[in-house]
Amino acid sequence: MATPPQPFEFRAATRLVVGAGAVGRLGALAREFARRRALVVSDPGVVRAGHTALGTASLEASGLAVRLFTDVGENPTTAHVDAGVEVARSFRPDLLVAIGGGSSMDCAKGINFVHSCGGRMHDYHGRGKATGPLLPSIGVPTTAGTGSETQSFALISDAMTHVKMACGDPRAAFRVALLDVLLTLTQPARVTALTGIDALSHAVESHVSRAATPASRIFSREAFRLLAMGLPRVFAEPGDIEARERVQLGASWAGMAIENSMLGAAHALANPLTANHDVVHGQAVGMMLPHVVRFNAAGCADRYAELVAELPGGCGSAVSAGDRLAGWLADLVVAGGLAPSLSAAGIAIPDLGTLAAAAASQWTAGFNPRPVAIEDLARLYEDAR
Ligand SMILES: [Zn+2]
Repeated sequence: MATPPQPFEFRAATRLVVGAGAVGRLGALAREFARRRALVVSDPGVVRAGHTALGTASLEASGLAVRLFTDVGENPTTAHVDAGVEVARSFRPDLLVAIGGGSSMDCAKGINFVHSCGGRMHDYHGRGKATGPLLPSIGVPTTAGTGSETQSFALISDAMTHVKMACGDPRAAFRVALLDVLLTLTQPARVTALTGIDALSHAVESHVSRAATPASRIFSREAFRLLAMGLPRVFAEPGDIEARERVQLGASWAGMAIENSMLGAAHALANPLTANHDVVHGQAVGMMLPHVVRFNAAGCADRYAELVAELPGGCGSAVSAGDRLAGWLADLVVAGGLAPSLSAAGIAIPDLGTLAAAAASQWTAGFNPRPVAIEDLARLYEDAR
């Protein structure tokens, strides 16, 4: 007999505004909140691409005073957040706007926590730690990957230890996520691959997470469908706008899936590679995911089959859905120009014990459908050598 679904709730905190050129509506959206002072968080690359200016021009045309904060790095740290809070203290914004990739969006959320509720970033590590209302915020992603625009978590690393803190609260979610595909066209090919593979891993891991619900799976599966269709085309033809739109929307749906279901072992394994070996997130998660899918396969056959059904050719000649999915994922990592193994990523002699212990301590490991002990995690790293 089938087990009835567990009790669950579903909430979408973020209003999606989607369309080519939609960045021009930023000012009008800000005025809907009756806001007058916008702190815009962006990064220097996005400023150089001209996207930030499109957003600030729209805000200013609607009569808002704008202050720009661009001291945001890849994998934002508590130092970036503190610098942004300093600017917020002097400028006193009544609206936060993030224009950029996951780093800018996460940094804006981090600034919002500390500026609105006081204390320091560490106080918000975990879920639901905000002590009061946060400023309304609008997210304008220029990459298609992290899904930060549609979920309430900010990943902020401790500036000293580099340990990533997931800080989430429904009040930190953007009120509006503005998806303008034209802003994603300037991503370098490597960024497209890193963020796209990350989004795909969000779809796959959230679909089988222990915390998955009937609602979250709607988003996981649709995210997977769009990304599976769009990513191979975007890798082959970066200017394909229709494929870019699919990838952008897929990444946002995957963010919504994460918000309602969390992730799994591939993310637990990826984080220590980023913290200890500077492997960027999309690369780290992309090379670990096929191994995690094979590890989970026996217990997740039906769920993986739901995803494989969206692939061209279905299950093909593979013996199981897990094998087919793992093989397809591994091929796509290579098609995106990413390293398929630890050695190819420059880690010749991995410190398996240290890495596995760090992976076991990751919160997200607990949501993997098959329990992962330290020995399992060490073996998964070994498989990825
Ligand atoms: Zn990720």
